[in-house]
Amino acid sequence: MDPFSTAVMADPIGTLGPMRPDQAFDPHTALLDWYGQYQRDLPWRRDPTPYRVLVSEIMLHQTQVDRVVPFFDRFLQRFPTLAVLATASRAEVIGAWGGLGYNRRAVYLHELARVAVERYGGVLPQDRSALEALPGVGPYTAGAVLSIAFGQDEPAVDTNVERVIARYFGTGSIPKAALNQNARELVPPGQAREWNQALMDLGSSICRARAPRCLLCPLVPGCASAGDAAPMPKRKSDVFLESSRYYRGRMLAMLRGLAPGEGVPLSEIGQSLASQGVAEPKEGWGAIGQRLADDGLAEVRHSAQETRIALPS
Ligand code: SF4
Repeated sequence: MDPFSTAVMADPIGTLGPMRPDQAFDPHTALLDWYGQYQRDLPWRRDPTPYRVLVSEIMLHQTQVDRVVPFFDRFLQRFPTLAVLATASRAEVIGAWGGLGYNRRAVYLHELARVAVERYGGVLPQDRSALEALPGVGPYTAGAVLSIAFGQDEPAVDTNVERVIARYFGTGSIPKAALNQNARELVPPGQAREWNQALMDLGSSICRARAPRCLLCPLVPGCASAGDAAPMPKRKSDVFLESSRYYRGRMLAMLRGLAPGEGVPLSEIGQSLASQGVAEPKEGWGAIGQRLADDGLAEVRHSAQETRIALPS
């Protein structure tokens, strides 16, 4: 059975006029037609090799597309293949990630390249379980690579896609396993590449978390939430983590500015960053440096005279 045919329609506030279930509505055609007309022109879509898709998906995690595009091009120029990335130093990769944020992604990606070269000769496997066994690759990233780069009929469910599916069926939040199963059944055979990217585009530009634009949506005729999609609650931000991320980012930016292999004495970090208007974190710069080191983003070097922090060698 076409999973879309189970949708029940509702429009309690009447924004879109009286609505009744439209059993004849074909959401696959509607969404794919919409995608054909409005798809975003993105560099990784022009040449969707497995490596380019992988890098783009890791960069896009928690980061806006507009911000990723220039980084993506620069990163690919510098590290055009998994093999080149694998032979770079950790410090080079962290340096190239500067400004993109969520720097642990750089560590994962670098580690992934090394493992992929070691296990697969630098060629990404075309198998979900093998992909998910690579550092930093979860079900979504694996699904994106398998469908977009390898053309396999695999779903790719991120928070955007999850929201579109939940609203379309009016299910609200459902267990992950059920959601993934629904998403898998929705993939039109032979069209996973376009389908997954269409859902991604719809989720980011039309079925937005807090302000869905139902009047512009190609899925209106079959959507259970059309005109009545509840804004998604803002994710609670962990104040401690947020502030810690800020201090980590500032320290890492400082380390990126050092000559290769050079470290900065812990005792000088506070003074140097204070001159840039950065106050001392409550937990101290030593704790921030240690957190970076725990995540593979820095090295803490102790000697009898001092402690230095540096990018990893
Ligand atoms: S934008 Fe509106 S009509 Fe489209 S899928 Fe989201 S809730 Fe449904």
